[in-house]
Amino acid sequence: MPTRKKFVAGNWKMNTTLAEAKALGAAVAKGVGTDTNVTVAVCPPFPWLVPVGEAIKGSAVALGAQDVHYEKKGAFTGEVSPAMLIEAGCKYAIVGHSERRHILGESETAINHKVHTALEEGLSVILCMGETLAERERNLQERVFQRQVFAACAGLTDEQFQRLVIAYEPVWAIGTGKVATPDQAQEAHAFVRTKLRQLYGDKIADTTPILYGGSVTPETTAGLMSKPDVDGALVGGASLKADSFVAIVKAAG
Ligand code: PEP
Repeated sequence: MPTRKKFVAGNWKMNTTLAEAKALGAAVAKGVGTDTNVTVAVCPPFPWLVPVGEAIKGSAVALGAQDVHYEKKGAFTGEVSPAMLIEAGCKYAIVGHSERRHILGESETAINHKVHTALEEGLSVILCMGETLAERERNLQERVFQRQVFAACAGLTDEQFQRLVIAYEPVWAIGTGKVATPDQAQEAHAFVRTKLRQLYGDKIADTTPILYGGSVTPETTAGLMSKPDVDGALVGGASLKADSFVAIVKAAG
């Protein structure tokens, strides 16, 4: 049975003042400490990356960004390149979050391009995927998983897959308080892992972490993490409170 280290990442979205971000980072760093059996990351808004990086310095908490551009540099007003994120201290970038897909119209081609550029430039990528409520009601979720994951991963090398984390985030569960049941999460994750195995082989299927995201709380973490294909959590709302986020990390470990 392959063992994958649990991974918990916090997506702060467009929240926090500078003072709140620094305090949250410091409190998460203190709560997680330097020695944990869980990989932990926080993803603050772009302008707070450097100060939050300072606040978590010396702890086991890594820094991530919520998005990244698909070109390396140039005339792309308002965008942020992978190299800039690395220089700001980031190890991770979230790509393809459903809010970017559905609110900002991010295409699967752009997501594939972002995944490639971020990995080429040395970041690790947390790739989000998941179905809408309408898609689940029509039982289309597996078609959606297959399309989204394989569009995003097309053309990746084996080495690049080693820096890819997938996050299954059903859109109906994000920010709604309606967490997927452990069985629903397991079913989705097992499907994605089986497809990874069919297309890319055992090593990639066995080593790629698949996180669950969508209204995760400290109370729901242990049940989700008890499932064999659930390797961690991408946490939105509950990551804005240090106590809750640290409790999720502890429950995952
Ligand atoms: C998210 O947006 O990545 C997320 C999981 O949000 P929440 O935990 O608030 O549902």
